[in-house]
Amino acid sequence: GEPAMPHRSERRWRDVARSTGLLTEDGGVRPTIFTEMSALAARTGSLNLGQGFPDSDGPAWVRQAAIDAIRAGANQYPPGPRIPLLRRAIADHQQRHYGLQVDPDHEVLVTTGATEALAAAILALCGPGDDVVTLEPFYDSYAAAVALAGASHVAVPLRLTDEGFRLDSAALQAAVTDRTALIVLNSPHNPTGMVLTPTELTVIAEVARRHDVIVITDEVYEHLVFGALAHLPLATLPDMAERTLTISSSGKSYSLTGWKIGWIIGPRALVSAVQTVKQFLTFTTGAPFQPAIAAALANDEFPRWLAGDLARRRDLLVAGLRSLGLPVYVPDGTYFVIADAAPWGAASGLELCRRLPVEAGVAAVPVSAFCLPDHAGPFRDLVRFTFVKDDQTLSAAVQRLAGWAGRGDAPAS
Ligand code: PMP
Ligand code: GLN
Repeated sequence: GEPAMPHRSERRWRDVARSTGLLTEDGGVRPTIFTEMSALAARTGSLNLGQGFPDSDGPAWVRQAAIDAIRAGANQYPPGPRIPLLRRAIADHQQRHYGLQVDPDHEVLVTTGATEALAAAILALCGPGDDVVTLEPFYDSYAAAVALAGASHVAVPLRLTDEGFRLDSAALQAAVTDRTALIVLNSPHNPTGMVLTPTELTVIAEVARRHDVIVITDEVYEHLVFGALAHLPLATLPDMAERTLTISSSGKSYSLTGWKIGWIIGPRALVSAVQTVKQFLTFTTGAPFQPAIAAALANDEFPRWLAGDLARRRDLLVAGLRSLGLPVYVPDGTYFVIADAAPWGAASGLELCRRLPVEAGVAAVPVSAFCLPDHAGPFRDLVRFTFVKDDQTLSAAVQRLAGWAGRGDAPAS
């Protein structure tokens, strides 16, 4: 249609839409895949295994702490970097879980979710002429933030192996060059559920040191790792704390995704660079939620319970999807499991995900939405389902899919 604004004003936001694959053929812009699929789920009364959010809220006592904070008057701007109680709790958390020494006064910044931490760090630390290297698939906001910064996004596809999705070390080594300003990592990994091994982390650290590159690691699923595996922050590797910005958030660990309390940790100079940008994005973050999350962070019981229970729900959904005849990649962490929907014969995972709510009453998310627009090839048929839902919802979803797949109008299986 007719452009509604002067041409020069179209450049940046259209770059964001294009880089995230959301620009339509007629020049329009679609909402993110999470918004699209949740809206479709709501419209069709579907069971929503698309957007990753829990269907039961985090601990009542943490929610009560926020209510108490509101009653006690935590309703005006808190200090820009963070309230002292929370920065201390974050530093203690890093020490207790990972043995990392963090200076709460200069090396911690509280942000409006991990999303703001990612955006502020990327905007602060790269620009036109720089490459930003990520794994692929990648969380959608990475591509948008890199486009906002005017940098180039270089995506290194994970390899599909007998051990599931794994880092392609040779491809990473080839992708990182003297043009690279940042590597943005995510482990435990959305959407694959992969957890980087110590060997893979060592390869990444070696590449980063060799090219003198800063690494941003998105560890929002740090506590949602299953079985005997453990999450290892990149910052614990030799000489890596000095070049690593570690991002996490309370949303996943405490089933409070709507509160949007995140943080970024790193050496003073890097955190100060990120704060320079963050203070002009939001200035400050959720006053009454900060003391509540400070209290939550001192308590490991809920995340530990959640990880155990999620492992059980993962097994339930994996068994269900396998009973439908789909190859499934068993995740080691996160909220998500990926199935290969090729046996259902749809043109792509995206096409399938647009049909499933309407035809089967189940919503999911295509993995292609986590890829560069021209890179989806190897991931084209893959579909992500979340298992952060109650058992009944998971079983009902598998039943609906089974009924649909057995019907004549479903793609042949
Ligand atoms: N990174 C990853 C990998 C995620 O899956 C999510 C969201 N769920 C985020 C970042 C954003 O976290 P937040 O809601 O704290 O902004
Ligand atoms: N992180 C959530 C997911 O991957 C979604 C968050 C969002 O909707 N942006 O499903």
